[in-house]
Amino acid sequence: MLQKLQDDVLDQYKISLYVYRIDLIHPQVSGNKWYKLKYNFLEAKKQRQRKLLTFGGAYSNHIYATAAAGKMQGIETIGVIRGEEHLPLNPTLQFAVDCGMHLHYMDRTTYREKKSPEVLKTLEQTFGSFYLVPEGGSNALAVKGCAEILPEVEQKFDVVTTACGTGGTLAGLVAHLPDSQQVLGFPTLKGGGFLYNDIEQLLNNYYATYSISRENTQERYRLVTDYHFGGYAKKKPELLSFMEWFTNLHQIPLEWIYTGKMFYGLYDLIKKNYFSPHSTILALHTGGIR
Ligand SMILES: *Cc1c(COP(=O)(O)O)cnc(C)c1O
Repeated sequence: MLQKLQDDVLDQYKISLYVYRIDLIHPQVSGNKWYKLKYNFLEAKKQRQRKLLTFGGAYSNHIYATAAAGKMQGIETIGVIRGEEHLPLNPTLQFAVDCGMHLHYMDRTTYREKKSPEVLKTLEQTFGSFYLVPEGGSNALAVKGCAEILPEVEQKFDVVTTACGTGGTLAGLVAHLPDSQQVLGFPTLKGGGFLYNDIEQLLNNYYATYSISRENTQERYRLVTDYHFGGYAKKKPELLSFMEWFTNLHQIPLEWIYTGKMFYGLYDLIKKNYFSPHSTILALHTGGIR
């Protein structure tokens, strides 16, 4: 669903702003997670894997969505959770367990090495064979899924914006971007500059996996790294008051981890004349509301 916004800021700076509400796709597998998981579940089934294993923090939207998708698809899910178990479970993990996800806690030191062959081997010894989805769900198949987002939008636009965690969603937008358009990403982690590398790697994997010839994509996107508010899941009063203003005015719910920071950053850039007058912007509402 595409929603056109109107308010004093947009009027004053002559900006057309549309919000693409993929947060409304599904009540539990919401927003970008739906696109990121779609081809991963198909691939797990194709490989006849009965189990899907993935990684995340205790508040991870990815863990939440994977658990819900696993229940719907009839695939057993294992969530490897960073850190120790805390009881009672928080609502994210309780929901995952209610969906049938098996939680496996991993100390932070080992968790940092989760991509190493040794750690994966230990997990296989514990759980048997499984289909592996990386932390945050970002791999070539997630990029393929997210590459389907923009072709759904009929409205013409100059710039599309998204919140970034691992950058998988942004990579997908870049992979299927009409000429002359640009993607602006708002990382919610501090020092998001490392994301350029991760995104290029995700794009390279995607192009290689699907034998698509590599386009020069580096020009097609920019990361705005000034709006993390201190880091992942950190918040400040000005962020919360912006979110309240925005939600009251536009009836669009935001959360402070991803979409709140993106819209805050977007409005701040508008007020700093970052976009030329009469620009049309498409803001992706990646979800995260529950
Ligand atoms: C997971 C998530 C993101 C980050 O997506 P990446 O593909 O990891 O960059 C952004 N917004 C919301 C609401 C999310 O849940």
